[in-house]
Amino acid sequence: MIDTHCHLADEIFEPDLDAVIARAHAAGLTSAMCILAAGDEAEATRAVRVRERWPEAGFAVGVHPHQAHQCAGRPGLAEAWIRQGAARGPVWAVGEIGLDYHYDFSPRDVQHAVFAEQLQCARAMGLPVVIHTREADEDTFALLASEGRGVAGVFHCFTGGVDRARRALDLGFHLSLAGIVTFPKATDLHEVAAFVPEDRFLIETDSPYLAPVPHRGKRNEPAWVAHVADRLASLRHIPRAAVIEQTTRNALQLFSPQPLARVDTPRASML
Ligand SMILES: [Zn+2]
Ligand SMILES: [Zn+2]
Repeated sequence: MIDTHCHLADEIFEPDLDAVIARAHAAGLTSAMCILAAGDEAEATRAVRVRERWPEAGFAVGVHPHQAHQCAGRPGLAEAWIRQGAARGPVWAVGEIGLDYHYDFSPRDVQHAVFAEQLQCARAMGLPVVIHTREADEDTFALLASEGRGVAGVFHCFTGGVDRARRALDLGFHLSLAGIVTFPKATDLHEVAAFVPEDRFLIETDSPYLAPVPHRGKRNEPAWVAHVADRLASLRHIPRAAVIEQTTRNALQLFSPQPLARVDTPRASML
């Protein structure tokens, strides 16, 4: 079982990182993809500790739309930060990147430019992308169609219904289901969970955010991705083991096409 999206290098996990990772192992997680904010040196330092304690974990590096303003008027900076991150350790994806019009923490034209630059960067590096999009569907789909040609990836923490899911799938993207799918009122998402093809879905926590039932309101952690797997099993009417087997295979194919060879690459031991 792989938690494909967690912020394990967030400072909130610093005091008890060992216990958090021990609980992840106890829950059956073989790996996790830890999302890093590109250009954040403090988080990069904490990522070294994650890597030391969990050598099988991978990383994604990207400029979140909330942080895009840091790159305003500085073309090339986002790519430079991502390449710096990739030189330090096993980077499996560029992300999380995208558009967020709910908070609008960065001007929209800046969000567009930084998102486009990172899509081009991902293509140049041969990496998939992790998409964060909120209340920005039309522009997100348009930019993926124009700047993201040939780039694989995932809509992380997917929300919404079957129509929206179909649009993302038609672009060739995977969908990642997070704790929201465990919420009783998320009926649109329950439909998506039953609908998404078995080779196109992933599971994640987005921890420390969005804790699933029965832990709502608490600090989330990778071990609790098991609750997402359980809910998907019931929604898809298949055994839990099948959800774990399918989502693990999908994650390895999308993020780590040569998981065995990767262990021996020099950069794998550098972070
Ligand atoms: Zn996100
Ligand atoms: Zn996230």
